[in-house]
Amino acid sequence: MSTASTSSPRNPRSPRILIVGGVAGGASAATRARRMNEHAEIVIFEKDRHISFANCGLPYHVGGEIPDREKLLVAKPATFENRYNIRVHTRHEVTAIDRGAKTLTVLDRDAGVSRDERYDKLILAPGASPLVPPIAGKDASNVYTMRNVEDTDRIKAHIDQHTPQHAVVIGAGFIGLEVVEQLIHRGVPTTLVELADQVLPLMDREMVTPIHEVLRNKGVALHLADGVKAIHTNDANQATAVELNSGTTIPADFVLLGIGVRPNTQLAEAAGLELGETRGVKVNAFSQTSDPDIYCVGDACEYPYAPTGKAMRVPLAGPANRAGRLAGEHAATGRSAPMQPVMGAAIVRVFNLAAGVTGLSMKAAKRAGVNATAVTIIANHHVGYYPGAKPITLKLIYNRDTGKILGAQALGEEGVDKRIDVISTAMHFAGDVRQLAGVDLTYAPPFGAAKDPVHMAAFVACNHLDGLFDDALQPDADLSDFQVVDVRTQKEVDAKPIPAADAIHIEIEKLRDNLDKLDKSRPTVAICASGLRSYIGTRILKQHGFEKVYELTGGQTVRQRAFE
Ligand code: FAD
Repeated sequence: MSTASTSSPRNPRSPRILIVGGVAGGASAATRARRMNEHAEIVIFEKDRHISFANCGLPYHVGGEIPDREKLLVAKPATFENRYNIRVHTRHEVTAIDRGAKTLTVLDRDAGVSRDERYDKLILAPGASPLVPPIAGKDASNVYTMRNVEDTDRIKAHIDQHTPQHAVVIGAGFIGLEVVEQLIHRGVPTTLVELADQVLPLMDREMVTPIHEVLRNKGVALHLADGVKAIHTNDANQATAVELNSGTTIPADFVLLGIGVRPNTQLAEAAGLELGETRGVKVNAFSQTSDPDIYCVGDACEYPYAPTGKAMRVPLAGPANRAGRLAGEHAATGRSAPMQPVMGAAIVRVFNLAAGVTGLSMKAAKRAGVNATAVTIIANHHVGYYPGAKPITLKLIYNRDTGKILGAQALGEEGVDKRIDVISTAMHFAGDVRQLAGVDLTYAPPFGAAKDPVHMAAFVACNHLDGLFDDALQPDADLSDFQVVDVRTQKEVDAKPIPAADAIHIEIEKLRDNLDKLDKSRPTVAICASGLRSYIGTRILKQHGFEKVYELTGGQTVRQRAFE
């Protein structure tokens, strides 16, 4: 059944702006539209019970770190009504768009009744849906995905009431890892399964292998490079085990699927709106779709991606909120600043470690055919002489010819967010490694260093571009054709030999006196624990006539991680 809504006059000063989806992108669009146009009629349709909730906080409620569920509900419908004069219809699903008539079909899910709603401007912010693999047992009653408050309520209730003994989390992306951490906080024995041979497949492998160790130390059973074949169920349709491609079967009384999301483009597609190459809704810089009166923001659309200049889907809260805000303004006034290209800056905490990333990884650069290289350094998050210094591993990825920064990854206990944010900001302004080396950052002993890890990484990259060494070999490089000079102490060599390398050991302090033991005509690579002493060695060798001298970036420490 379909009924027509009352319609307001078609006055350009008071457009009727309808918004589909009331969370990150939709709520930002609605409130900005109101602040920019007091006369617009603004209506949000949200198919679920809650609007403007904190998706990103959901895992922390399950684990009890955010004990008060109300805190997840950032703004309630009454706030939108009373403070912003925005109508909110929860449990109302938009099922169709008639672009000719400029109407939506809206299903009131409680009443089971549909009606038409006229729009002057329409903003689509329907988000994405969790991917569910087409496997046996996926619909079992104790198999969950986490996208909204209702999912979280169900998951939390299950854990509270049944105290699982065998939780299995499938997918080691950001959400999967956050849930694993919270399950362990709750004392739930947990297995993590990931198809890739590493957690956080977006990042380069050697940057995340320390997370494997942390997970194992916390008691998480880690199954990498293995996919899920089927979920076994009992007669009551409850999952009892997860069967992997390898044949391993893991007992399970709670399963969480965290294998990624697909954009909710069905409405847009059915309305004939163009999709882009990544199958997200194609939009221009003002978030307008192929129909200029219809906008799309958030996980459902593509954004311009700065590192490649191509379109990319980036299902993260920051871009959704920023695009929503701009689209709301554009819909309400006909103008706004353009959406800026995104980097995909993201961070996750896994127990005591934080892993952060922005822009391209080396493997993504390779896939995209970008002429990239990378340097990796290990440096303390603040000066070593001030108590509490923690090492950060920082990888800086840049264009081999121009030095333009393409991406960065960091891993450590403290200060990861700051380094990734600084580099992401430099990338936002199309910076190169020389500019990054000169960036002026705050410093006092409790906070950083006069030469911050960001500077140190940029210095190494500049040294490379300036030819102070011939190239930065990546941590997993094949060293068989190189003369490998290990400049560490004997104690270090005994404790941690260099994986897959036949090295000549000469401590850095003795290198100048032992150059005759080396062949100047062979390509030579100096190695130490992290790259600092080896760089000194590299410079000695270079200035004593060695023809080709290379750095193993990140040294033995990072190489060992690559070979884990
Ligand atoms: P959403 O915020 O998902 O909102 C879409 C809304 O549209 C939904 O409520 C949906 O019910 C509604 N809707 C869909 N179709 C219709 C329809 N036809 N009619 C009416 N309503 C409809 N990002 C980060 O950057 N950092 C994090 O730490 C982080 N953590 C996360 C943790 C979890 C558990 C989850 C699920 C996501 C997390 N994200 C994080 C991702 C981030 O939440 C999303 O990128 C962001 O919410 C996307 O905003 P959106 O407006 O596109 O979609």
